[in-house]
Order: sequence, then C-alpha cells, then structure tokens
Amino acid sequence: MGLSEIRARMDKACAAAGRALGDVELIAVSKVQPEDRVAAVLDQGHRVFGENRVQEAAGRWPAFQERYSGIILHLIGPLQSNKARQAMEMFQAIHSVDRPKIAQAIARLAQEMGHCPDLFVQVNTGEEPQKAGVLPGDVDGFVADCRALDLPVKGLMCIPPVEEEPSLHFALLAKMAARNGLSGLSMGMSGDFERAIAQGATHIRVGSAIFGERDYG
Ligand SMILES: *Cc1c(COP(=O)(O)O)cnc(C)c1O
Repeated sequence: MGLSEIRARMDKACAAAGRALGDVELIAVSKVQPEDRVAAVLDQGHRVFGENRVQEAAGRWPAFQERYSGIILHLIGPLQSNKARQAMEMFQAIHSVDRPKIAQAIARLAQEMGHCPDLFVQVNTGEEPQKAGVLPGDVDGFVADCRALDLPVKGLMCIPPVEEEPSLHFALLAKMAARNGLSGLSMGMSGDFERAIAQGATHIRVGSAIFGERDYG
C-alpha cells in the first residue's frame, strides 16, 4: 500500500470528519519490518516511527539516526521498569503507561534525567484479561495519580478487541480523555485508522498498511 496512499486516506478521513489536515500524527509502526522497508519510508521523508520493544528499537535505530536527522520514536508496546531508563533515553513518547509501578519509575527517572517523554495511558477498553492497560473504571484515578507525580500525560491509548467494532472503543476512549482534560488520543491501526480519525484520534499507529505484512517467521 505505502506511505502516500495512507497519507491520502488520512486527508480524506480528516476532511470527512471536518478536522484540520495535520491534526493527526501518523506513527509508522516499523516493528519486525526489514531494514530496507524502513529505509524506504525514511527516504520518502517520513520521520515518526513506532516500535513495540525497547530492545528491538535499540538494535536498529541508532544506525538510522546517523544517516537521517529528525527521527522521532514512539514506544507503543509494553514497558518493564528495568527498561524504563533506556526507553526514556530513546523515545520521545511512550504510549503504554498502565500501572503505578511504571508510572513511579518514570517519575523517578524524569527527576534524575531532567526530561520526560510525552506519555499516554493505555486503557484496556475491552476489559480483556490477556491485554495490558488500565481498566476503564480505573482511568480517572490513574490519570490523577500520574499527574500527582508531575508526569506529562498527553492522552490515552487503546487497542480495541479484534472481534468488536473499534468505533465503540474509540468513542469510549475519547469520552474518557475529554472527561480528564486530555487532548491526545492514540488509536487506530492499519484496519481501522479512518474510523479512529472520525472519533478524534490525534495519533494513529499504522504498520502493515505502510510496510507490508510483518514476517514473524
Ligand atoms: C503492531 C501494532 C500496531 C500496528 O499494527 P498494524 O495492524 O500493522 O497497523 C499498532 N499499535 C500497536 C500497539 C501495535 O503493537
């Protein structure tokens, strides 16, 4: 599919939703993708990328950062507290803040390092037992706790259950963000980013529609 087609579809979805073009940040999710595909997207001028794992990102991005300037990395996958320092050195945003222990670790490190990435609280909107994220009923309290730690919470993030209509989850996330005075909404992937834009997404995370299918083999 490719970058330019995704951009065109984003523009169309923004227009249909009466939103300003440029209101929505495209995070190109490069996890597991071969280097040549990532380089091709960099060569087209794109600079904002998402990775799932700190270790994988640390293995590949320093070399790209020597060749291309202005790269911005978002961590969209789970974060362990023992990787928090490395994550905070490498990523400009973390979308997976989902428990007190990691919030406290980030707050401690932010004090020490004098900076902190933009943070998104991940919400388990479908209340799926196997999925990460704060439960909907705990979001307000958790956001308040993060703010009490002086953490720069920019918004909420969700990954809807695969078998459900994502729009319902996007709308729920938007409602929880508004209620908490948060403007950032990290939602929408390859299969549903237009619907996420319709519901107010500010950050969409698109992988396979840009790079092609991931090969985990
Ligand atoms: C892999 C991943 C994506 C991208 O998924 P695609 O379906 O390839 O667009 C988005 N968000 C998260 C959290 C992911 O892990």
